[in-house]
Amino acid sequence: MKKIRLSILGATGSIGRSAASVAQAFPDLFEVVALAAGTNVGLLSDLVSRFRPGFVSVKTDAERALLIKSLKGLGLGKLPEVGVGEEGLRTAATLPEADQVLSAVSGALGLLPTFAALAAGKKVALANKESLVIGGGLLGPNDRELISPVDSEHSAVFQALGGSLDASRIRRLVLTASGGPFRGYDAERLKTVTYEEALSHPNWSMGPKITIDSATLLNKGFEVIEAHHLFRLPYDSISVVVHPQSVIHSLVEYPDGSMIAQLGPTDMRLAIAYALTNPTRLPLLDNKGLAGYAPFPFDKSLSFEEPDRKVFRALALAEAAGRRGGSAPAILNAAGEVAVSAFLAKRIPFHAITDVLEDCLGKIPVVPIKSLEDALAADKDARGYAEARIPKYQNR
Ligand code: NDP
Ligand code: MG
Repeated sequence: MKKIRLSILGATGSIGRSAASVAQAFPDLFEVVALAAGTNVGLLSDLVSRFRPGFVSVKTDAERALLIKSLKGLGLGKLPEVGVGEEGLRTAATLPEADQVLSAVSGALGLLPTFAALAAGKKVALANKESLVIGGGLLGPNDRELISPVDSEHSAVFQALGGSLDASRIRRLVLTASGGPFRGYDAERLKTVTYEEALSHPNWSMGPKITIDSATLLNKGFEVIEAHHLFRLPYDSISVVVHPQSVIHSLVEYPDGSMIAQLGPTDMRLAIAYALTNPTRLPLLDNKGLAGYAPFPFDKSLSFEEPDRKVFRALALAEAAGRRGGSAPAILNAAGEVAVSAFLAKRIPFHAITDVLEDCLGKIPVVPIKSLEDALAADKDARGYAEARIPKYQNR
């Protein structure tokens, strides 16, 4: 396989760190040419000393100064060029030296760099589902050919389709959901959950935003919208089933009733590696550099149940927003980002996150999205409205 020159956006995050571990475990296959992060300068300088990329980007000038100081302290010799903010992310996404871009910042922030990478003709390993939730309708005919999904469910479908996004021959796509830490709870019990409980996912280790979204099932709703755009399927052909063991990562159903599922470790390094190297599969199980990566031990039974959309209303709200189209998914996403940061800042209780989504989707007018500018404007407006509503949900 030809060496892949890789740019990692969100290098210090949960996905970024997993990607770095894969790149480091297969040094003959990957050359990391750019790393973009936000504020975690300590980890970023460690990644720079490991991979020696030519370009690095951080959130603001303050982090830039800290990073340069830290890199000088490490005595690395020639320093990388260091960019800042959205411009830095864009540079990392479109760098001529990069063949592939792993889009793994979290939130709507990923929209512009993801589309910039596609416009520059880069192959994009897409973890940042928000860019499709908000801007999926803007994907051009050639864009989808450049995308390989990283989200484990979409990777599973991609794998079940033989490394393709062409779902024209399937009858239905079934996304599996673990159900999160509060599976089986009723609405009253959801009102009693603690901050720590919401942040501990039973099966996956992820960044804080997606961990909370997995507990409300908003994440599964985002994934339905993501699947609609990636695989060009109508919403009626996308189902969700709760599968608490997270061993089956998703499946496709053919018209004859046959179902092809993908099973594997609950470890994002699988989906990340497949997104980067498909159709080649890397020998992850036999690589000593990938600590903790282990095969399924066949020690548990697999079970399935319907999601409870009455208790986990975020899933139903997201599905309805997807069907409605226009700016509705952007409103959903912005409301979710504001509500989850308010929850993480202990300003609102867990169950109020979904109330904020419902409030925003009910009150903010839905408009068509014809350009990235439209998408950004919808995002900005919804954020403003959601922020103003947060005090109403304090201590409820
Ligand atoms: P994390 O919160 O762990 O990481 C987010 C990354 O984005 C960090 O590197 C962070 O940098 C960076 N970032 C944040 N703000 C900025 C900014 N202003 N400028 C530049 N970089 C910034 O998120 P995850 O890794 O969990 O998720 C990343 C994406 O992947 C999300 O879209 C998520 O939905 C998706 N995803 C994640 C999965 C998972 O298992 N974690 C599974 C499927 C999808 P820093 O920390 O330095 O501030
Ligand atoms: Mg997922």
